[in-house]
Amino acid sequence: MEDMSNLTDGDTSFLVDEILHSIFFMGKITYLSFSPEDIFHGDEKFLDYMREMYPRPFDLYSSQIPNRSPFSCVLDMVVRLSGPQEKASSQNNLQEIQNKLRELISKLKQRDNSKMLFSTTLCVSSVSGSSKYYGVSMSTHRKPARQIMVAAGCLSYWDDCVAAAVMSYCPQKRRKSYFDGTFQLPADVRCEAFSIEGQRMMVPCRSCNNLFNLETTETKTNPYGNCAETESLSNLLKKEERVKQQVQRCVSERVNDRERAERDVLKQLKQILKPYSGFTWDNSYYRPLDV
Ligand SMILES: [Zn+2]
Repeated sequence: MEDMSNLTDGDTSFLVDEILHSIFFMGKITYLSFSPEDIFHGDEKFLDYMREMYPRPFDLYSSQIPNRSPFSCVLDMVVRLSGPQEKASSQNNLQEIQNKLRELISKLKQRDNSKMLFSTTLCVSSVSGSSKYYGVSMSTHRKPARQIMVAAGCLSYWDDCVAAAVMSYCPQKRRKSYFDGTFQLPADVRCEAFSIEGQRMMVPCRSCNNLFNLETTETKTNPYGNCAETESLSNLLKKEERVKQQVQRCVSERVNDRERAERDVLKQLKQILKPYSGFTWDNSYYRPLDV
């Protein structure tokens, strides 16, 4: 990330800062509880350099929850490296992004094949003729990391409509009786997912059909919020106002108790964090400076 950051046009050091915090946090909640010192073991010089350049992740990984998983930060960096989103040759752009991610994953795999740090799926969404919005699946397959990151997405990071759709099922995995934030996308929104390593298109899973009405023949239900579609659509809705308004209209007539749904997610999040005595949550989510 540090190397890539030096190649981007604008200042992207905040993404290095964010991924460091996210990785340190992941280390904290794995069973062995890796510290930053363990992670950079054998390269103390680089550790000192990073600590000096990015002190906040070192200070806050034991008290703040990351907004997103590490690979999501990697995706942002790769997208920035591949040039402006509006680039006309968007198909090439997508190919370039996929290739770069695949290259990074194969490097990661040489060191560790635990899937702890990389995503398997990339999703790209767009409204006809508009920018492309990317997303990756959660790079945290295991509980509790995945549950924590989905909760952070719902409560802090994702667009509020996407968060509402996910909370309709989360954390209980079944549809809530008192809250329905699922929605139908306007017909001109395209949302396609690809396997990063296999380079093939992936049909949406049953969960994505339940959340966003994406057409599918698939019967498999991935954990809600885990799919690349979630992040990609969240990025799209944060920027495309007309789509956002249409989606809001679609859910506005329902009687929904959003506060209760959020309380429900927060309650489970606090329960998950309880056994980690080395982590004392200050009730905030980590935001890198300069954003
Ligand atoms: Zn899905």
